[in-house]
Amino acid sequence: MRDTPPPDPFSGDLPDPTDPRSGGSSQFGPAGSADDDVTEPLSPAEREDVLADLEDLEVFRTLLEPRSVRGLVVDCEDCQEPHYFGWDLLHSNLRHLLDLGQMRVHEPAFDPDPAQYVSWDYARGFADGVLDTAENAED
Ligand SMILES: [Zn+2]
Repeated sequence: MRDTPPPDPFSGDLPDPTDPRSGGSSQFGPAGSADDDVTEPLSPAEREDVLADLEDLEVFRTLLEPRSVRGLVVDCEDCQEPHYFGWDLLHSNLRHLLDLGQMRVHEPAFDPDPAQYVSWDYARGFADGVLDTAENAED
């Protein structure tokens, strides 16, 4: 398994895209872009979905973390089994998706306790219920 990219020769010294010397001289493109791991940028609609998910996630975490819920469980279609994601991991995964256009689904929490994770649907229902109650209380 070669999941880690090779060391970047420009590490810490990224080429300046405005520098005329750093572009146009190579017909093969910049180093590191020649593999088949090309990702397409998200469409505007997809970005909105992810941003909405990030907002939902913050609400879920605010409501559920004080109740000892450590994250969400997601059924993985690839593995045919549930994956458990902590709040921080969910957040970074969505940021990753937003920035790079691909999901990192196979980094589930280590040795999770299923009792401490709820589904996205459960979290949404819970949040809706809390928000409804809060709105009704204002009347
Ligand atoms: Zn999986």
